[in-house]
Amino acid sequence: MIRPGITSRPAAGPDPAADPPAAAAVVAGQFRFFDAHVVRTRRLGPTLLRVTFGGDRLAGFASGGRDQSVSLFLPRPGQQAPVLPDRTGAGWYQAWLAEPEHERAVLRSYTVRAQRYQPLEVDVDFALHDAGSGHPSNGAGPAAAWAARAEPGDRVVLLGPATADNRSVGFRPPPDTDWILLAADETALPALGAILRWLPTAARGRAFVEVPYRQDVQDLPSPAGLDVTWLTREGGSASPGEILAGAVRAADLPAGVPYAWIAGESAMVRGLRRHLVRERGYDRARIEFSGYWRRGASEEQLRSERGTMGDAD
Ligand SMILES: Cc1cc2nc3c(=O)[nH]c(=O)nc-3n(C[C@H](O)[C@H](O)[C@H](O)COP(=O)(O)OP(=O)(O)OC[C@H]3O[C@@H](n4cnc5c(N)ncnc54)[C@H](O)[C@@H]3O)c2cc1C
Repeated sequence: MIRPGITSRPAAGPDPAADPPAAAAVVAGQFRFFDAHVVRTRRLGPTLLRVTFGGDRLAGFASGGRDQSVSLFLPRPGQQAPVLPDRTGAGWYQAWLAEPEHERAVLRSYTVRAQRYQPLEVDVDFALHDAGSGHPSNGAGPAAAWAARAEPGDRVVLLGPATADNRSVGFRPPPDTDWILLAADETALPALGAILRWLPTAARGRAFVEVPYRQDVQDLPSPAGLDVTWLTREGGSASPGEILAGAVRAADLPAGVPYAWIAGESAMVRGLRRHLVRERGYDRARIEFSGYWRRGASEEQLRSERGTMGDAD
């Protein structure tokens, strides 16, 4: 049913991927810094903006597909390029931290929506936080604001995979999986799209996606046996993830051995994981979950809550 030979990694904590690849993994060659520039942008709907990165220096970038994440270094307003002084391996994170906060590059986690080789291109879909308000960069964090004003030629650095089998791919259904459960908000929609594309045509299961607006719904190619349910917050007062969590809780889910993947706003992710374990009796090891963002906290805050990183892997 599922691609053979793909093994599950142990379920991680609530904000596992908010850490950039640890220094040890950079040194070991799983990840590398890649200079790139914006080739074009395309609005996919009120909320999602696709930014396509390109450049010869993307040679060697090797996405593992699925929910492959990257650490993006973005320039601050007025800068020509992201400030990232040392890329020589183990010391990069401390060197970056040592730069004045208002100067050092903005560091954020995003997903590789797609990679192409001729020409070398990588698509990243950015959720613009207050899309639909008429002021696309108002109230957004620095990454969403950067995306909203991105133009061809703008320079960025990606800390991304140098090998397709790397630890920033979380979606790894074990071979004995009978069916797949996917739950995503708009920030995890890029990963969900890439997962649906990666799955074999025989895969079956249910996917639930919550987006802010009806026009954010995308036409996602997916296996015939995998039913995708779109949910929107449009016109209501629900907080992000609330409608998604309600839909999964109420769903009549298939029998058989599941593998669940949940990503998006942290409270939603935590609540749904708890539901699957406590109320549906799913094995924790068969649930991959990842808090992609948390209401009221920037990625820096999430990272500093999790303590230092960079030496451990
Ligand atoms: C592994 C991983 C993969 C990810 N992939 C993607 C991806 O492909 N596309 C994508 O859009 N996001 C993705 N995210 C989420 C993204 O990193 C966060 O949304 C990040 O906080 C955005 O940075 P920022 O500078 O815009 O906002 P921050 O400075 O981090 O936050 C500023 C404020 O905005 C709020 N905020 C953050 N994100 C949102 C949001 N989406 N809607 C409303 N308010 C928000 C925060 O709670 C905070 O109050 C991913 C996260 C992880 C960990």
